Amino acid sequence: MTCGNVDLACTKCRLSDKRTRVVPGVGPCDSRIIFVGEAPGKDEDLKGEPFVGRAGKILDECLMEAGVDRSQVYISNLVKCRPPKNRKPRKSEIVTCTSLYLNSEIKKVSPLVICALGQTASETLLRTELNMEEFVGKEFPQTIAARNVRLFVAYHPAACLYQRRNLPKFKETIKASLKAAGLART
Ligand code: URA
Repeated sequence: MTCGNVDLACTKCRLSDKRTRVVPGVGPCDSRIIFVGEAPGKDEDLKGEPFVGRAGKILDECLMEAGVDRSQVYISNLVKCRPPKNRKPRKSEIVTCTSLYLNSEIKKVSPLVICALGQTASETLLRTELNMEEFVGKEFPQTIAARNVRLFVAYHPAACLYQRRNLPKFKETIKASLKAAGLART
């Protein structure tokens, strides 16, 4: 289920030109945690659901290891349309899309915890530039969309596909964020 504002025909930014589908967030509207990625990729663009490709498999596996099914958590992205050739979303696209959609998802779900997946999501939600090596695995109290949350900085799961050495830290951070939300088995 998608929570908050959705416009499956949105044309508020140029990303709408090349997308196949809008990819809104998905999960229970009373979830205690929201995972936020950067932008849909090819598989997500075709299916209309976030994190259903190779990166999503890593996230799913990690949730399962912690005893959590993906249906128990809310999963979303900064922007809801796939950028052409998987380029990074532009600042203006992120500002437009988060102010219309992600913020409304956060308001509606009102989670205790937000886990930012990757540098773009982390920098956007912390409103600062950061060196991932230094910040990854850490937790910050943050007010986002008028909600006080515990924000965790995690590697993007795709960063574990190409650099397996990132996987242990990724798993550790996902588990810590689930624990903070009262979801993970100990
Ligand atoms: N990468 C993301 O950041 N989000 C997705 O939904 C898929 C891949």
